[in-house]
Amino acid sequence: MGTFDLVEKMGHEQVVYCHDKNTGLKAIIAIHDTTLGPALGGTRMWDYASDEAALTDVLRLSRGMTYKAAVAGLNLGGGKAVIIGDPRKLKSEGLFRSFGRFVNGLSGRYITAEDVNINVRDIEHVSAETKYVTGISSRPGGSGDPSPVTAWGVYCGIKASVKERLRKDSLSGLRVAVQGVGAVGSYLCGYLAKDGVKLVISDIDQAKLQKIAAETGAKIVADNEIFTADVDVFAPCALGAILNDETISILKAPVVAGGANNQLQDETRHGKMLREKNVLYAPDYVINAGGLINVYNELVGYNAEKARNQASSIYDTLLSVFHEAEKQNIPTHQASNVIAERRISSVRSIAGLRNSYNNQPWVRG
Ligand code: NAD
Repeated sequence: MGTFDLVEKMGHEQVVYCHDKNTGLKAIIAIHDTTLGPALGGTRMWDYASDEAALTDVLRLSRGMTYKAAVAGLNLGGGKAVIIGDPRKLKSEGLFRSFGRFVNGLSGRYITAEDVNINVRDIEHVSAETKYVTGISSRPGGSGDPSPVTAWGVYCGIKASVKERLRKDSLSGLRVAVQGVGAVGSYLCGYLAKDGVKLVISDIDQAKLQKIAAETGAKIVADNEIFTADVDVFAPCALGAILNDETISILKAPVVAGGANNQLQDETRHGKMLREKNVLYAPDYVINAGGLINVYNELVGYNAEKARNQASSIYDTLLSVFHEAEKQNIPTHQASNVIAERRISSVRSIAGLRNSYNNQPWVRG
């Protein structure tokens, strides 16, 4: 398939190839849709097997950002960037400053942030050349570590899922299995334990497990036992693609609601499989939008309490996703896509394409 066929199929507005011979920069910035606001999404650095693989990845990831922002009710579009090459060999101040100039050239149509293999120092070099950067925790007014807000959104999402499936307003006495007690999972365990939830946890890091178990009274299980644990909710907070043929067939919980990205190995097939098994699935990009809500708040003037309150809206958003799924008799991940597309097309019909964000209040002067 030719590049334009691919871009047309996925609905992108703009794809920018960035090249700088002196620094070795090869990057692709993909702007999927700016109907709702500037395209926001992190920059990832990866040693792709081919340029085509890099293009496919950036197109897929940027489209995902459009849907995530749209359902979360944010005035943002979807974008993403990939820098091609081995991060251990290619990173330099010059490379990131060069990339920053390309971002700046888009005049705010694309706002970048950290993603896989990009750290604070790298992104600080980018920000030496452009103001269209967000999520720098070390900067005054920066939004800091997004994990507490992400975990809070996941906690609210678990409450919504329990209300929908188990018809309960309180989590007290329920059992939740959390896979992965890293940044998001550990905060989540704290919020759940405070509510009187009985926790079951797994991780490949024994030290983290011991710490959370001591703090919350959680029961530790082996990694493959987390799927068969006798619990009310399974909360994946570690890896992607963990909802697949093998795991769905052994899963005991009637609800899956957790913070990990890209949980469904195959969106269509495994979304349908969960539904057929009568497992209520909280779509990953809806329930884990707290991190995006956090950086969005940095753009409009950061206030931690406001960000957390806004993440609480994930409760209502998920209920509307579940109701849409019920009404249309479709899997929940499909219902959230429908809600995102509906919001974008309603705004598109009045606003058309925008080409400048320089005067918008969310872009720092
Ligand atoms: P993290 O690296 O801090 O935590 C991940 C944890 O999973 C680690 O403790 C790791 O040891 C554990 N793990 C790895 N393999 C495992 C396995 N096979 N079984 C059990 N545990 C395993 O990462 P994080 O920031 O907490 O993010 C967790 C997930 O949430 C990721 O999928 C991430 O993309 C997603 N997410 C995070 C945020 C955020 O704000 N941090 C926002 C949105 C989505």
